[in-house]
Amino acid sequence: MLGIGTKNIGIDLGTANTIVYVDGKGIVLREPSVVAKNTKTGEIVSVGDAAREMIGRTPASIVAIRPMKDGVIADYDTTVAMMKHYIEKALGKSSGKPYVMVCVPSGVTEVEKRAVIDATRVAGARDAYVIEEPFAAAIGAGLPVMDPTGSMVVDIGGGTTDVATISLGGIVSSRSIRMAGDKMDEAIVYYVRQNLNLLIGERTAEKLKWDIGSASIEASAEMGTTEIRGRDLVSGLPKTTEVSATDVATALQDVVADIITAIKETLEETSPEIAADVIDHGIVLTGGGALLKHLPEVIAEETKVPVFIASEPLDCVAVGTGESLKSIDVMKKK
Ligand code: ADP
Ligand code: MG
Repeated sequence: MLGIGTKNIGIDLGTANTIVYVDGKGIVLREPSVVAKNTKTGEIVSVGDAAREMIGRTPASIVAIRPMKDGVIADYDTTVAMMKHYIEKALGKSSGKPYVMVCVPSGVTEVEKRAVIDATRVAGARDAYVIEEPFAAAIGAGLPVMDPTGSMVVDIGGGTTDVATISLGGIVSSRSIRMAGDKMDEAIVYYVRQNLNLLIGERTAEKLKWDIGSASIEASAEMGTTEIRGRDLVSGLPKTTEVSATDVATALQDVVADIITAIKETLEETSPEIAADVIDHGIVLTGGGALLKHLPEVIAEETKVPVFIASEPLDCVAVGTGESLKSIDVMKKK
């Protein structure tokens, strides 16, 4: 039996965002996976939204760290500090230690998985369990994961794109590639520097992607232009430049192509029955990257399979992780 005040919680420890789900309450917290630290004392200055605002704007004495990279822990101590902060924020300091379910991308190594479990324990969990991200995403998207029918989910986050087919409560085939939102932002920074002679930060690139980014160069022709600010490569001075949606779509092309290749390869590996089920039900997109404009159409055209965006795509993994908390009680008895 659980002690009084002890809650089970689910954490979507994402490269871009951390989302906490409390059993019986649902999602209680959504914040960027960013921590600002004082470089001299090592002291934490801020966590989450406040720290994210500091990216690219810190004085020498502060660094804004994104402790997760490519879906795994890149900076262990900072990840622990961030999780501790979020667990306390979600539950309040006085409550008992929670059992925590955390998600990991499919295809992580045992060492990487171990690191997530250890970090979660050190951050204050009574015990920690992991669930594979595409499986959680599929549950959160409402797919019939337990049924004898094949479903396909594509979770496009900040660090990784996880593609999986699922049937009878398990992953049948999957791919995890380190090509997702962050690589899109980097591609925009690079394109703007090479073609428009302007240096921009990753935050500016990400905003461009949200505002006028598109997976289709063709469709981008009707999406207009926008103004961005950065530093002129030649003069070194601040400058405002016009960027078109076609520029952004061109920059994003390679990342989009890699995501489509991963989907095709995963489809090729599935049995004919599951492939037939996927054609019937379609491919479901989750994660923030699912919101890139024209992505469903482009994937549908390339794979000849219908594509849908899950409702609340950014929340799917957290909701699925939360739903799977029910199985913690089963696991504990093992
Ligand atoms: P993670 O699980 O890795 O933390 P998320 O699922 O939270 O990632 O998605 C974050 C990614 O989604 C970021 O790269 C962000 O820029 C991207 N994103 C969010 N909204 C949009 C949008 N409207 N268009 C394109 N990309 C988006
Ligand atoms: Mg994610």
